[in-house]
Amino acid sequence: MLRSLRIISPSGFNRTRPRLFSSLRSLTEQDVSHLASILPSTPIISTFSPFNNSKDELDSFNTDWMKKYHGNSTTVVKPRSTEEVSQIVHWCWENRVAIVPQGGNTGLVGGGVPLKDELVINLGNMNKIRSFDPVSGILVAESGCVLESLSEYLAPKGHIMPLDLGAKGSCQIGGNVSTNAGGLRLLRYGSLHGSVLGLEVVLPDGTILDQLSTVRKDNTGYDLKQLFIGAEGTLGIVTGVSILTPAAPKALNNVLLAVPNFSKIIPIFRTVRAHTSEILSAFEFFDRTAYEIVCRHGHRRPFQEDIGDAQCFILLETSGGRKEHDEEKLNDLLGTLMNSEENLITTGVLAQSPFQFASIWAMREGITEALTKEGKTYKYDISIPSGSFKDVIDEIREHLRAQGVYPEGGVKAVLGYGHFGDGNLHLNVVTDGYSPKIASAIEPRIYEIVSRYRGSISAEHGIGSHKTGVLHYSKGEVSRAWMKKIKDLFDERGIMNPGKVII
Ligand SMILES: Cc1cc2nc3c(=O)[nH]c(=O)nc-3n(C[C@H](O)[C@H](O)[C@H](O)COP(=O)(O)OP(=O)(O)OC[C@H]3O[C@@H](n4cnc5c(N)ncnc54)[C@H](O)[C@@H]3O)c2cc1C
Repeated sequence: MLRSLRIISPSGFNRTRPRLFSSLRSLTEQDVSHLASILPSTPIISTFSPFNNSKDELDSFNTDWMKKYHGNSTTVVKPRSTEEVSQIVHWCWENRVAIVPQGGNTGLVGGGVPLKDELVINLGNMNKIRSFDPVSGILVAESGCVLESLSEYLAPKGHIMPLDLGAKGSCQIGGNVSTNAGGLRLLRYGSLHGSVLGLEVVLPDGTILDQLSTVRKDNTGYDLKQLFIGAEGTLGIVTGVSILTPAAPKALNNVLLAVPNFSKIIPIFRTVRAHTSEILSAFEFFDRTAYEIVCRHGHRRPFQEDIGDAQCFILLETSGGRKEHDEEKLNDLLGTLMNSEENLITTGVLAQSPFQFASIWAMREGITEALTKEGKTYKYDISIPSGSFKDVIDEIREHLRAQGVYPEGGVKAVLGYGHFGDGNLHLNVVTDGYSPKIASAIEPRIYEIVSRYRGSISAEHGIGSHKTGVLHYSKGEVSRAWMKKIKDLFDERGIMNPGKVII
């Protein structure tokens, strides 16, 4: 029977965690020499001799993008082939050495950094495109390909990736699959559970599972690949991805709307849907606090007119086949919104050039980074009914006020933005610094609220190490028990990303 010990999570929220590492051992100098023999052409980064890297040189692998989660790995390997990954993993299995698979390390829940001194297997060197079929649009790529580089590869071929996110310049397709990343195109192209057609995965004992199918239809029993989509590296290491890429739209337009208050957003959404129907590809929301922060950190204010006390903003994008047709629809839409009796919008800007189009998107995509310049941010990525976004933000703000941490006491701002069209709110609490007092003021209250709405505590970022102790707010006992059985079935020795997702 597993015994438990009491720990404080990186967010400061108390929870219990079984003795995950008790049957696992740390790497030694001899082990690292052996790993080097598996990877003769790739330098290992290790504090052990003969590599003698400093702790600082391992810092970017031991720390996440937000600088919130910190591990103590002594060694990072960067294999170049599936065979090399398989050999390393097999050795770890035999020797009971824990592994953290790592992609671009842009994850926001601590899944990609060690909890202790696990071996980091970084996939950055597995960055080759294996094939692209221009007829079907099916791309097969190694897992370490950076999302943006895949988009650049596809652009001259008239295709796009079915997902796009603010971290595209660093995140890798293997990381995207492993987190089941959502992002800015989900409204149009659906989730990776639909667009990923096949995967190649190195299982915890080193076996290579080849499910790299390039067919759209395959009803030959259990669809094993689905288990690895969103598994956050707890069931195996994704080394190859086969993905359906849509044809690039011929006409792209976007519009930024300033909206007097939140109550107008649902009528706007309905109006937008009615006018744009099949060409609507994004409907993103951000509140005034998010807008002010992103403008404060370098983004030009987009509106020429005074926006008064507009409380929210909507970025909507259309992508279609014929520019004139789409522009006609958008002009009709804007006319309807401007002249609505309910005063649905304060004002709006329609991008007039590729530069304006990009700068409207840059504003929305820049919010996450702007928050890092404002302070240390507690990020909650929740699914709730879209109409309740404001109520939830307000409830948390008032709760923090009642707890005496806002507006004085460490919390600088409570704000929301996100994928309104998908019911996905990014609720962010910006603080002077991470502290157990603030963390325990926010959690578990935020999860209780989500549970009240029967929502999800993680719409797209995953569970990582941050939310293992609160999974029960979204997954019942039976679901958790089956998740654990699946984890144990694949990884009975518990070497694959221990302490993440399900413990
Ligand atoms: C500015 C910014 C904007 C973002 N916007 C979005 C957004 O809109 N939507 C969204 O969903 N996320 C978003 N994210 C979060 C993050 O970018 C995604 O989760 C992304 O998919 C992580 O990819 P990565 O390669 O960086 O993975 P990492 O951070 O390296 O790893 C994430 C998890 O996947 C595992 N993993 C990584 N690679 C592999 C592999 N090859 N095999 C098995 N497991 C692996 C890791 O162990 C870890 O558990 C954003 C992050 C930032 C910093």
